Amino acid sequence: MNKYVPKYPLVWQKDDFFIKIFTSIPNLATGILMATKNDKFVIDPGDGILKYLTNEIGPKKILEINDIFVSHGHHDHVGGLWSYLTYLSVMKKKKPLNIYYPKGCMEIISIHNAFQQVYGHELTYQIKLIEIDDPVTLMCNSLKIEPFKVKHSEITKEGEIEFIPSLGFKFIYDGKSICYGGDTAYCETLVEKSKDADLAIIEAGAEDEEETDLHMTQEQAIKIGETAKEYFLVHVPE
Ligand SMILES: [Zn+2]
Repeated sequence: MNKYVPKYPLVWQKDDFFIKIFTSIPNLATGILMATKNDKFVIDPGDGILKYLTNEIGPKKILEINDIFVSHGHHDHVGGLWSYLTYLSVMKKKKPLNIYYPKGCMEIISIHNAFQQVYGHELTYQIKLIEIDDPVTLMCNSLKIEPFKVKHSEITKEGEIEFIPSLGFKFIYDGKSICYGGDTAYCETLVEKSKDADLAIIEAGAEDEEETDLHMTQEQAIKIGETAKEYFLVHVPE
């Protein structure tokens, strides 16, 4: 039984390091804006992301966002990408857009290919797909990013569990860190990365013990969250 349901948006800020989780509801949408002093980033462009961003930073500043981090390809995490990419072209974005995603994520590759087919000839900006497989450390100006593999899956038609390419991200800026686990079952890497983070954003998507191959129970998520200085539970079934 879930005891807690988050009230969105969830906002956290330490000095110039800011994150706002507009929403994160299983099967509906996740959408997150993160900001440092000079840059803004999108994490998981689920359905509605364009509307949330417009409300938050206005229609023009969206063009200044050059990096999107995608935890995995499930529709509730990438559902807003098509309209987002189209909007940037209509509004004549100039700088390239980097999309970081787990290697083998069919949804991102397919959305990108289809999008290029339809709009490639008139696109005002370049889309750079950056697939992540091995452990790497990335830099976006003064933001350091440590992507890490997590354990997320889906159930096939035959009722079998199939693991899908999934990432969590640890973001480090100005001596502070945010750990976003994406969607995942309990996994040791997430435990490691969350420990001592200034903020851990942990999914608690399992309705009951039977779903723990796909998601975590609130009990599991809280246990991990409590090792960080602060934590948010997200992706809680409503
Ligand atoms: Zn998922």
